[in-house]
Amino acid sequence: MSGREARLWRRTEGGGVLCLLCGRKCLLREGERGFCEARIHEGGGLKTLNYGAAEAVNLDPVEKKPLHHFLPGSLTFSVGAPGCTFDCLGCQNHSLSRPGNTYSGPLRETPPEALIRAARESGARSLSFTYSEPTAFFEYAEDAGRRGKEAGLPGIWVTNGFFSREALDRLDYVSAMNIDLKGFTEGFYREVTGGSLGRVRENIKEVKARGIWLEVTTLLIPTVNDNESDLKALAAFLAEVSPDIPWHVSRFIPLHRQSHLHQTPESSLERAREIGREAGLRHVYLGNVGGRGYSDTLCPGCGAPLIKRSGYSVSLNRLSGSGECPECGERIMGVW
Ligand code: SF4
Repeated sequence: MSGREARLWRRTEGGGVLCLLCGRKCLLREGERGFCEARIHEGGGLKTLNYGAAEAVNLDPVEKKPLHHFLPGSLTFSVGAPGCTFDCLGCQNHSLSRPGNTYSGPLRETPPEALIRAARESGARSLSFTYSEPTAFFEYAEDAGRRGKEAGLPGIWVTNGFFSREALDRLDYVSAMNIDLKGFTEGFYREVTGGSLGRVRENIKEVKARGIWLEVTTLLIPTVNDNESDLKALAAFLAEVSPDIPWHVSRFIPLHRQSHLHQTPESSLERAREIGREAGLRHVYLGNVGGRGYSDTLCPGCGAPLIKRSGYSVSLNRLSGSGECPECGERIMGVW
């Protein structure tokens, strides 16, 4: 097994290496892997095992990320590589995100240049790092993302938000993010994700402050994270960071180690939407649930429908290039 030199780590006095990439800060002895299964202490340094491992590649509507206020109706070239800094009980992509300790690298490496060539030929307007956790394939995403930006493809991260401040400092190629805010207590994060809430909260504030376009997703899991007081606290937090952060509340589908639970009732999703609106959030979308205009963009000023969506496609877009409502002139925040 031989990986490529990783970024963001340092040697420690006792002969270990400390990975500085995510909030976990794994301290690894020779031969040990990090929690993400994608980094290994090898030959006295930290190596990444998944460089070039573009195991999931698709051309997706940007609405699928989900991003509803970033180039709506456009396609995004989407790439995922093995590994994750969380281990969520209900993971929808666990064969990709938890490759296991026998994973020793890509069978066929796809260099960043090849990825960008394919992205440009595809007609995509952006480049998304998604499906698993981009932090876990940081080096590959960085090299592809910077080349993509030079080629006119802004970068998108779809992330659990657990990356370190040092990692965030290097995301100069990222124009938009969707961060999962999976719950709002440390207990929930510890038990259901294997991560922690504090780092995610800090990153939501910091990403917004740095001017990266930000949307947030919460998967509503019946009996696990759907109680009113937690949802009210979560929505109030987002509204305090900015009432213009679009909040996507998604229906849970029983999967993986949460297959014994039920899917989210529509009434719970609607209640969450009310809670978000009461907290002052201007745009609350319901995901994984069809019909009823749940994913339409409405003007927060006059209520006029501005963008109508059917599934992941946009059927109507009445916003002007600068994002103004044609009825009342209200400015809608986003990248249009
Ligand atoms: S990126 Fe992986 S190795 Fe590094 S701190 Fe996070 S889980 Fe540990």
